[in-house]
Amino acid sequence: MTEEIKLSVVVSLFTWIQRSRPSAKRSKFRKFLDTFCTPSDYFSAMRLILPSLDRERGTYGLKESVLAICLIDALGMSRDSADALRLINWRKGGANTGANAGNFALVAAEVLQRRQGTVSGGLTIKELNELLNRLASAESRAEKTAILATLINKTNAQEMKWVIMIILKDLKLGISEKSIFQEFHPDAEDLFNVTCDLKLVCEKLRDRTQRHKRQDIEVGKAVRPQLALRVRDPAAAWKKLHGKEVVVECKFDGDRIQIHKNGTDIHYYSRCILDGEMLVWDSTLNQFAEFGSNQEIAKAAKDGLDSDRQVLYVAFDILYVGDTSVIHQSLKERHELLQKVVKPLKGRLEILVPNGGLNAHRPPGEPCWSCIAHSVNDVERFFKETIENRDEGIVIKDLNSKWEPGDRNGKWLKLKPDYIRAGSDLDVLIIGGYYGSGRRGGEVAQFLVGLADRPDPNAYPRRFISFCRVGTGLTDDDLETVAKKLKPYFRKYEYPKKMQPSFYQVTNHSKERPDVWIESPEKSIILSITSDIRTIRSEVFAAPYSLRFPRIDRVRYDKPWHECLGVQSFVELVHSSNGT
Ligand code: ATP
Repeated sequence: MTEEIKLSVVVSLFTWIQRSRPSAKRSKFRKFLDTFCTPSDYFSAMRLILPSLDRERGTYGLKESVLAICLIDALGMSRDSADALRLINWRKGGANTGANAGNFALVAAEVLQRRQGTVSGGLTIKELNELLNRLASAESRAEKTAILATLINKTNAQEMKWVIMIILKDLKLGISEKSIFQEFHPDAEDLFNVTCDLKLVCEKLRDRTQRHKRQDIEVGKAVRPQLALRVRDPAAAWKKLHGKEVVVECKFDGDRIQIHKNGTDIHYYSRCILDGEMLVWDSTLNQFAEFGSNQEIAKAAKDGLDSDRQVLYVAFDILYVGDTSVIHQSLKERHELLQKVVKPLKGRLEILVPNGGLNAHRPPGEPCWSCIAHSVNDVERFFKETIENRDEGIVIKDLNSKWEPGDRNGKWLKLKPDYIRAGSDLDVLIIGGYYGSGRRGGEVAQFLVGLADRPDPNAYPRRFISFCRVGTGLTDDDLETVAKKLKPYFRKYEYPKKMQPSFYQVTNHSKERPDVWIESPEKSIILSITSDIRTIRSEVFAAPYSLRFPRIDRVRYDKPWHECLGVQSFVELVHSSNGT
């Protein structure tokens, strides 16, 4: 039934869309495509629905003022008749055109109603398109008038009103081009954006379930990686991705590697490009090996010198599948493809997708590697958990974004504790320890640190005031060394009920109760810590301020316990950085 679609059907569609609630407009369009169109009708229909994007036909040279004259002549009206003046003065609106003033098509419909019948003229969209082609190529005004007269003959007033809107290239349907494209085919907008060719879009994208095969990237040719934009804190990230569907992922500390696969081995697809991070996995400890060790371990692993550690590739994206580039699909769709295309191999090849892939191997008690964030609190929590677990930071991604080569466009954001550190290091004393969870279970993995209370500046401190809890920043080995050195002095002080040694001042807040206390301050060690420049007023700890995202910079074995930063000096530091 190619090209047999009647203009009256398209007019019903337009009227229907115009009157529908915004949320229902798209489905009307879909229904029209499914009910009335075969793929060979798509272009005929789409060029009427999106007339401003139809470059095939050239311009009509008919703005409202010229169109008014042509219509007056085509209808055989006298140019000074009341209706002719209404058309000419369509902006002002006459006595009867008040409501329609400013809308040429409505004013014209009013005039046409008095001259045309209500019975459909039976014009097909094929015939309409041919007449519109002739109208666009007509050179004289007389020729244009003649074609308009033919159109008037073959339509009723309602139909002619929409023809006029098509000629003026503005249908006022209240539905965006974007929505029309999306409903037509998921790749339509994108293909139009790069080709500006509506005909080509309609011809190439005939099947909505078949994604367009793009060859903008190729297997075997490296693509510049998509980059992440640095943000200050979770709130800034959330603001930047306002209203978007967001996934938060661990920022792995390895090497960014693209895998271009073009062959037959282990996996489902013979050709694909994966984007991800190359890391080293310790199969005995069941965890990622330390930062910095990647290159040498990778080499040792490759040479068969280290049997515990092996190279593990975490694929967090997929760029090409089978015979087509997929970078234009949304991250959400690419995550689905990752799951479909890649068969993970534990400890060798893993995929990073929310609620699946690598997350399945997260040790109990430790946060997941990637999840959907529904609020800024989710981002904040994920960030805290991730850096407490001593990972490098997090990457926050818009799930609806494309993968853009070489672009730092803000669709991927990165948040690392390094970016929020204070200008000055603070030398504080370890006063207690907390046991870790998951892979650090049973060992002290975080410390409670204190500030010195020094009433006499020339004397040793008398007490230490709890300040904050810190566990990130050191390498595994360094952290272990500190914990080992302090182990002989850890005390549980369970009796009388959870009392701490008297030279430590704490609040009653349960969060600050460490699992163990350091027997006495002289035995302890000073840590240099850094953090967000903004301190927070503390209700949990005894010191008046605490730190956001504290991080251990280094261990000060060289500094004796009594040189710990004093509360007073710290408060002064806070006030001077706040300008108060
Ligand atoms: P940086 O030194 O912070 O890694 P960079 O300039 O190398 O910065 P960016 O684009 O700024 O790179 O940050 C993204 C980098 O983070 C990627 O190149 C990749 O190596 C790494 N990365 C680790 N985990 C992820 C992840 N889940 N998603 C995206 N990138 C990740």
